[in-house]
Amino acid sequence: MKKIVNRSLAVTILAIGIIAGLLVYITRFFEQGENWALYFPGTGSSVEGSIYDRGGNLLASFNADEQRYSDYASIREACYHVTGDYGGRVGSGLISSFWNGLRHYDIINGVTISEDTSISLTVDSSLNIFAYNLLAGRNGAIMMMNYKTGEILTMASSPSLDPLAEEDEELPEGVFINRCVNATYAPGSVFKLITSAAAIENLDNLDEQRFYCDGDYITSGVLIKCSGEHYNQNFEQALANSCNVAFAQISIQVGQERLIEYAEKYGFLSELNIDYIRTPAGHIMTEYAGDPETAWIGIGQSEDLITPYAMMRYVAAIANGGMLVRPHIIYADTVTASRLIEESTADRLKELMINNVEKGYGSYYTFPDLKIGGKTGTAETGYYIEEDLDEDGDPDSLSNVWFTGFLYDEEHPWAFVAVIEKDLGGGLTTTGVMMNTFLHQAIKSMS
Ligand SMILES: [Zn+2]
Repeated sequence: MKKIVNRSLAVTILAIGIIAGLLVYITRFFEQGENWALYFPGTGSSVEGSIYDRGGNLLASFNADEQRYSDYASIREACYHVTGDYGGRVGSGLISSFWNGLRHYDIINGVTISEDTSISLTVDSSLNIFAYNLLAGRNGAIMMMNYKTGEILTMASSPSLDPLAEEDEELPEGVFINRCVNATYAPGSVFKLITSAAAIENLDNLDEQRFYCDGDYITSGVLIKCSGEHYNQNFEQALANSCNVAFAQISIQVGQERLIEYAEKYGFLSELNIDYIRTPAGHIMTEYAGDPETAWIGIGQSEDLITPYAMMRYVAAIANGGMLVRPHIIYADTVTASRLIEESTADRLKELMINNVEKGYGSYYTFPDLKIGGKTGTAETGYYIEEDLDEDGDPDSLSNVWFTGFLYDEEHPWAFVAVIEKDLGGGLTTTGVMMNTFLHQAIKSMS
């Protein structure tokens, strides 16, 4: 009898276990069924699809029998973060996000898919190869769009991989992250473009003010250091010098709430999307910061984080009189535009960015033959190279370096952003110089 009781107990426990498991399964099925259905039934189904670049080069295609990529390794690698792969390892890759986006999923019938799944992209694969090679194995991103049409022309992220390569070696860290759209970085001084917009619209006497910089500024007992000594400057000169002493004072005058308001208004704190590609929201400190921290927020340090794409999108609107033509990567016949920035503010920022290059950067580096406006950024990472000491005997610090801007050239109305992680140089000397090379090549190849 005891044996039977034991057995029935065991059976009961087993039964409970199975039912519980089934319930969990059913619950998950209803919650996550859509995700389960995502990645390629592919072979065996009657569905077909292809992705082409703007020149008609095949980037990926699949049918009942096979899942293909480009025949060229250089295209596969440089465009890997655009296409992603059939396993969905790059979350924003178009192979998974686009084809999944087209699928109509319902719980009874499972997956159905619309018939025409061929798409043409606005990205130029040869420019992507050029950009990817310029990144030269460093962690970083180059992105460029046409601000008149909204077309994304380049979206390159490094490190990358060839989706057809054997993967017996260890993969580089973060290889599945598209750094153009899915990584957030401390913006450093490129954030001063947002602070500047808030200052232009809210400080009545902005252009009458003078900001004296001897390298240090102390507010509420906290030292804010500048990268140099800029002496007496007006607002325009302060931006061209990217002076922290001036922007600390400007940020405090604008105030934390307005800095948050402007970052929010321009999309930096929201999730954005480029067709089926979704980007994470950026971040700035919203709890009460006080003056010194507000200064750091407006300078682009503090807790500030933004995606390179959000910065390019903002600069595209600056270059286009404040109107943002919807950025897109899948070719579209007609595209809507909406106002992101007040026209007069955008025009002023545009002049300031052109002045940055002429007056601010011109003495160190010129961009020969380019009609260009820009802003550099060098954000401290807290990483150092211990063995490498600078003139003062301190270890060299590594920064995330930025260069963002636009060409004001009728034939090449392009906005761009470039970021390189943990670099020993600066926004101008590393990313600025790199983008000069890139833009010349782009003009040559797109003309
Ligand atoms: Zn300064």
